[in-house]
Amino acid sequence: MSFAFTPPLPAAVPVAGTDMQFPVNRVYCVGRNYVEHAKEMGFTGREPPFFFLKPADALVVVPEGVVGEIPYPPGTSNLHHEIELVVAIGEGGRNIAAADAGRHIFGYAVGLDMTRRDLQGEAKKLGRPWEIGKAFDRSAPIGPIRRAAEVPGAAGGQPMAGGEISLHVNGTPRQSSDVSKLIWNIAETIEHLSKYWELKPGDLVFTGTPEGVAAVQAGDLMEGRVAGVGELKVRVA
Ligand code: MN
Repeated sequence: MSFAFTPPLPAAVPVAGTDMQFPVNRVYCVGRNYVEHAKEMGFTGREPPFFFLKPADALVVVPEGVVGEIPYPPGTSNLHHEIELVVAIGEGGRNIAAADAGRHIFGYAVGLDMTRRDLQGEAKKLGRPWEIGKAFDRSAPIGPIRRAAEVPGAAGGQPMAGGEISLHVNGTPRQSSDVSKLIWNIAETIEHLSKYWELKPGDLVFTGTPEGVAAVQAGDLMEGRVAGVGELKVRVA
């Protein structure tokens, strides 16, 4: 058996403090998972969680201490930042109960769900899929994965329950909240997600963004942080 061409290596994210790489399978994203962000997008209340995916090759892996770079993507004039806590799945499964979710978690990372908001808005209006607004090339910058046992509040197999999450652009605060404000917490998110898809080791889950999403321009420096997990610095080229 031979491949028709050399297949690309799988996307992989460094595991902080080790020589290991976390090989990525799928990238799931949760929509509207903080109340204040749901409101700024014109929604209220606790609707069931909903999900979309990005291709694994949309990840832009930014090693510790490095400023990553993404190009300003084509086809948009309204590129938005969405800072998010990312959960890395280490053990797969179907129909995972929230109470068991912790043992499926390998670790956590800081990610950006970059969004072509104008194209997403048009897709919403027309009842079309979101891929053109969400799943574009290099739309998912991510920092190193910190193993769950090293994350405060997530040791002992409990999913992370809180921690400040923030994003600055060119030194100015844009997004600031706390992981404790997730509408569907990490355990509930894994429970819902695993009802509809079989989770596999290597899956990543972008858990949703807090309020304060806004546009970036070429040249802007985005600095994201989740307390206890790490930082992510990315410049828009
Ligand atoms: Mn998002």
